[in-house]
Amino acid sequence: MNDPWMPTTESGIKGHFYQEGERQTELPSDWYSILSRLGVTMLQVDSEHHTTNETMPGVWDWALYDRLFEAIRNGGFQAIFFPHWHWPPDWYEDSDEFIPCRCLEHDEAIPCISPWSPHAKSWFERCINAMAEHYDGPDGVAGIYLGIHGDWGEAMYPLGGEVGVACLEYGRGLKDAHWHPDFWCNDPCARDDFRRTAIRKYGSLTALNDVWQSQYDNAAQLDFPRTPDPDNPRPWLDFIEWYYDSMTSLSAMVAELYRRRFPNLLLMLPLGGGTEALVFGQDNTGLPKAMKPFNVAIRSTASGSTQSNRQYSTAEKFQRNYPILKRIASACKFYGNELWLEPPWPPKMGRTATVTKLFEVLSCGAVAFYDWSRNIVENADVFEEYAELLTVRTPQVDTAIFFPATSHRLCPGQSMPEPFWEGAADIRRVLDFDVVDERLIADGALAGYRVLIIFGTDVVEAETIAGITAWVEAGGAVLLDGVGPVRTVEGDRAPYDALAGMAPESGMVETGPAPIEVRHDVFLQHLAATEHCIVHRGYTGLSGDAEILAASGDGNAVVWQCRHGDGTAIVCAGDWGERRVYYEIIRDAVYNLSALAPSFRDAPAYNDHWDDCFSTVTEDGIIFLNLEPVAVEKTAFGRTLSIEPNAIAIISADVPG
Ligand SMILES: [Zn+2]
Repeated sequence: MNDPWMPTTESGIKGHFYQEGERQTELPSDWYSILSRLGVTMLQVDSEHHTTNETMPGVWDWALYDRLFEAIRNGGFQAIFFPHWHWPPDWYEDSDEFIPCRCLEHDEAIPCISPWSPHAKSWFERCINAMAEHYDGPDGVAGIYLGIHGDWGEAMYPLGGEVGVACLEYGRGLKDAHWHPDFWCNDPCARDDFRRTAIRKYGSLTALNDVWQSQYDNAAQLDFPRTPDPDNPRPWLDFIEWYYDSMTSLSAMVAELYRRRFPNLLLMLPLGGGTEALVFGQDNTGLPKAMKPFNVAIRSTASGSTQSNRQYSTAEKFQRNYPILKRIASACKFYGNELWLEPPWPPKMGRTATVTKLFEVLSCGAVAFYDWSRNIVENADVFEEYAELLTVRTPQVDTAIFFPATSHRLCPGQSMPEPFWEGAADIRRVLDFDVVDERLIADGALAGYRVLIIFGTDVVEAETIAGITAWVEAGGAVLLDGVGPVRTVEGDRAPYDALAGMAPESGMVETGPAPIEVRHDVFLQHLAATEHCIVHRGYTGLSGDAEILAASGDGNAVVWQCRHGDGTAIVCAGDWGERRVYYEIIRDAVYNLSALAPSFRDAPAYNDHWDDCFSTVTEDGIIFLNLEPVAVEKTAFGRTLSIEPNAIAIISADVPG
């Protein structure tokens, strides 16, 4: 654990960040002993967020940070530093070397260094070397939070908006900065890099023209596509991939520079955003993969789900946040990065939010977490209550949900892919899951899972369907909803239809609402027990390999399986409006799969009811978070436990029943 504070001054940021009297420029002296007693070991200092401390060329002012680090050491803690070198000071902004980010919409600049600047590496190296010369050694820092780019030093592009404009006025006296969410890639270096990257991908401009269905005569004509073309999605996907990869490359470059100068320090990469608007440019699986060679931990700032989104209940807030966290946690699990969690600013957590945050830490297998000092001090009783529970555990998760990255990238206005988000949030009530995207599947992550659930996907890479099919043939069980049509980026429906047991003559039949006739009631126990279980559509003309598990009254297929090798694809015909039917099939597939074949295994049904008591199985037991308004009883390993509202409890596996 650690604790930071934001360096602020009396002028503040237009009162935006703290209410009057709340702001602190350093920790109150009596907080050190409280934090120490609660187990905090590291304290973080942020550098100025929108300029650096090189006041004139070659002249560095470390006095403020020296004083804060000394106070941290005197308090018995280790220090973490969070530098922000990507907003160079005014004198560098005025130099010929500086290439700023420019928005695509208006071609206006902000004083944040372009990731494509040929001078970006030497700029970061200059700053990191100066820091290493000042802080290397036993009295230096113990960890570095790698400031990369954007508003808050995360691996994201500048987003600005009202807060960003205010920050620039506060941080460097810049009045009325032009700053808004956009693709910030309109500088000449970015355009050159995009052209070179795109042509390199295909080998020649001629080959690119073939794939893009374009007619460029020379590279200089090649421009950013402004919107995705549904009939020709590849140019847009190449643009988004380049935009994401550029931020990942910048992050890797910065990580390598730090690791070279600080071979033994704790290094952490900040991942922000939470949701995944394309303009963020943050690749939540590519970045953990890119950080692994430099032994850089990942720190997600999306923890503490229950302090935001007021339109949802506490339980719904947890459920909506969980797939966001697990998207990053699953990548860290696969690529081998240590994971830290961090709640977003500002610090305003109450008891329930704090308890939920601790459950997120345990469920994600995080090795540590960061919190704002105010959150810890104001919730000291919660941290005391759960001190013994806060050990690093390894969640045992064998169900994955597919994050449809390609479909998402083709919807520029979308912050998260629905219905992935809604489906994942809903089924968290009855099971625990990881999240895999197309990169994780390409790298082999499915081998670690028993069941894969797909929600509402329409376009995927051909390689992804091939990867899923190969995993099914090796014994996996994939669940498909709505039966598409799902096509490859090239427009081919055949690979997905083959996986789903669809034949060329298969067709969907809309009918009046009819009760579902469950034909395999040993497998579909939960579906059979569902009251008023009706559907509006079924399928006819499935392939000969398909076995109908449930049908509509007129005999059309509502649920079927199609065996491939040692595994199976289980398909639900219903559309998203009938997702409750799909949810019950998911529950049957996770807890009752062996009914389809003895070679399939089932997850133990410790906590498979539709309530707001959530759980995660770990190597030493099962951990519950009860967000019901009343105490609930749960049974596992022969023991029954009553869990209070808004509380965490564990049933240990090593206690005999
Ligand atoms: Zn603009």
